[in-house]
Amino acid sequence: MKIICVGRNYAEHAAELKNEVPQEPVLFMKPDTSLILPKQPFFYPDFSNDVHYEAEVVVRINRLGKHIETRFAHRYYQEVALGIDFTARDIQNRLKEKGLPWEKAKAFDGAALIGQWVDISQLPPIHTLDFSLHLNGNCVQQGNTGCMLFSVDQLISYISSFFTLKIGDLIFTGTPAGVGPVKKGDILEGFLNHMPNFYLPIR
Ligand code: MG
Repeated sequence: MKIICVGRNYAEHAAELKNEVPQEPVLFMKPDTSLILPKQPFFYPDFSNDVHYEAEVVVRINRLGKHIETRFAHRYYQEVALGIDFTARDIQNRLKEKGLPWEKAKAFDGAALIGQWVDISQLPPIHTLDFSLHLNGNCVQQGNTGCMLFSVDQLISYISSFFTLKIGDLIFTGTPAGVGPVKKGDILEGFLNHMPNFYLPIR
């Protein structure tokens, strides 16, 4: 299983990190060891002093595919969840300055949370999904998948032109504006289509 993540897929988030809006999707990966196991908290890593949350809709691939056309991409998933792409922003900024890969900032143990899977038949259309993230009870991120620069189906097509997609692969589809730091003792709660999707303490 692999986790493919999309960067800068919402214009307002690209702007808040002073990045250009990309002409094609920005991709990176996380290993399966980055996943937070069920009922586990996020353990704040000792190599960073600036870990940020990034709430993102996650799509689970349910068919093998390569070179998938956008118009057929909807056949390759049936479940979505809300997730968090945890990012050690201090490390990422140092790596970005030097043009180096992001893995130490994005792929460490615990850097990927996934909430409960929801069958898309239970949800509004995939390109009209509301989601939000609350930090200690306050809403800090609000998004709608309609604001993506590249839609879920376009992402699947683009990703599959480089990487064969396999059953169980996960795609983090990018975060809207409002990213920010967490600290030990915080509680993060995710909502997908206004329904609770995850509850995560930071330890
Ligand atoms: Mg992200």
